[in-house]
Amino acid sequence: MSGGMYLKRSARIWYLYFAIILLVFMCFLVNFGVWCPSENEQKLENLLSRYREQIKEKDQKYTEVKDSLRKSEKKVEDLILYLEVRGKNNRVFDKSMPVIYAITPTYYRGVQKAELTRLSQTFLHLPNFHWIVIEDSSSKTQLVADFLSQCGLSYTHLNILTPKEVKLKPDDPNWLKPRGVLQRNVGLSWLRKNLDPEVQPGVVYFADDDNTYDLKIFEQMRKTKVVSVWPVGLVGGLRFERPIVKNGKVTGWFTYWKPDRPFALDMAGFAVNLQLFFTYPEVEFSNYVKRGYQESTVLSGMMVTLDDLEPLADNCTKVLVWHTRTEAPKLTSEDKMKRKFGHGSDPNVEV
Ligand code: UDP
Ligand code: MN
Repeated sequence: MSGGMYLKRSARIWYLYFAIILLVFMCFLVNFGVWCPSENEQKLENLLSRYREQIKEKDQKYTEVKDSLRKSEKKVEDLILYLEVRGKNNRVFDKSMPVIYAITPTYYRGVQKAELTRLSQTFLHLPNFHWIVIEDSSSKTQLVADFLSQCGLSYTHLNILTPKEVKLKPDDPNWLKPRGVLQRNVGLSWLRKNLDPEVQPGVVYFADDDNTYDLKIFEQMRKTKVVSVWPVGLVGGLRFERPIVKNGKVTGWFTYWKPDRPFALDMAGFAVNLQLFFTYPEVEFSNYVKRGYQESTVLSGMMVTLDDLEPLADNCTKVLVWHTRTEAPKLTSEDKMKRKFGHGSDPNVEV
């Protein structure tokens, strides 16, 4: 009985020892972080949330890259659009540079398309350039409309017929009546109605369709503040006419014909800042001024003085524009062909 009691007691003590040792061991495990189910879960959770955070950051970066790619794609699209729009002859200009507006009267004759081709292929070299072509006709012709639509330039197509009483007849000497007067005026009206020199600065040049132009003169005239001037070759019965320049200022005119005109220069020998045509909105050319006074009438009308003139082409020592005149072709064999073979050259082929 007492032995049983002893055993029971010692077993109890052993249990106690075992329990204490187990407790100490668990405390040890817990203390050193080897075993604690809830704490491990916490650690795992922390790790996961850190990874989630990193994934979120990566996602954000990815979206940013995607956005910037989309933006540069948009830029490329805009560029393509810009080029297409230019190709379609709409006006898209670089705002930092004055636009050159060339006003060109033109009329139907055998060499018209050849002249316009020559001219347009000079102009195609120029940035920020707009061509205003005014036909001397009661309506726009298919030839000029088709030509302009494929010429690759930014342009405006207008027309006005010169009335009979002031129109040059085929056999008249070319000096008898003014040419291109109403057409230039229609060009000026278009400028005044459609442009704003405050928004986009510009320079106006009266570029007849038969002259020859060196590209250098356009880059020089682009900086015109009021009126710029330069020599013109093969005009007025001379090898060239030019403004006389002393100490960088225009003091008069080297011409044989009417040197006393206020501005004894050819239409091809000057360019005007666009703003001036807005400051003087009434000024225009006229069929009723004295011969040789078109240029003087317009410039004097805008209160321009010799002192305002800006001499270009190395102080007017270089000829960069020629008053060339294309000989009218004699198409006499067309009739001979008709008589001999019943038809001339194929009328369906545009020349
Ligand atoms: N012009 C015109 N109608 C005409 C004659 C000429 O529109 O009846 C145009 C011509 O195409 C040119 C400008 O007016 O752009 C000046 O004409 P032209 O070259 O014959 O004059 P010139 O060289 O004799 O000054
Ligand atoms: Mn001419």
